[in-house]
Amino acid sequence: MLAYAPHTLVIHHSAGLAGGEDIRRIHMSQKGGYDEIAYNAVIERDGTIFWGRPLGTKPAANAGQNAGTAAVCVVADNTAVGKGMTYPQLETLANFVRACRLLYPEIKVIGHRQLKATACPGFDVPTWLRDLETMEAPSIWLDSDTAAGSDG
Ligand SMILES: [Zn+2]
Repeated sequence: MLAYAPHTLVIHHSAGLAGGEDIRRIHMSQKGGYDEIAYNAVIERDGTIFWGRPLGTKPAANAGQNAGTAAVCVVADNTAVGKGMTYPQLETLANFVRACRLLYPEIKVIGHRQLKATACPGFDVPTWLRDLETMEAPSIWLDSDTAAGSDG
């Protein structure tokens, strides 16, 4: 497979609780199925990563729009109470996004539903990204504010 620098990272949820190994088997065994799992990475319930297609090779998760993209899927149904992402999954997803931005500084990060009419990934990715960027600095500043305060 020809490798490339992806211009867009698309975030998905699995809409179920079956793990990466099961998703891989389903993708490869379905009629007209794939020769590999559709995603580049699947984030398991415990936050570990199940690697699929190597990053920088074309995924098969975004019908008709896969060229130049990367696809990550969290094992969760973010539209169902009690089945949403776990805290470790959120942390891994945040780190995955940061790693992709280091590897591919120009990469755009979007949710599947920004490409087509679907609920996937079940949360608003632009809002989450904004929170991710604004929440890091305050936690650092709060620590140093507290330290400065106790000195005074
Ligand atoms: Zn999706």
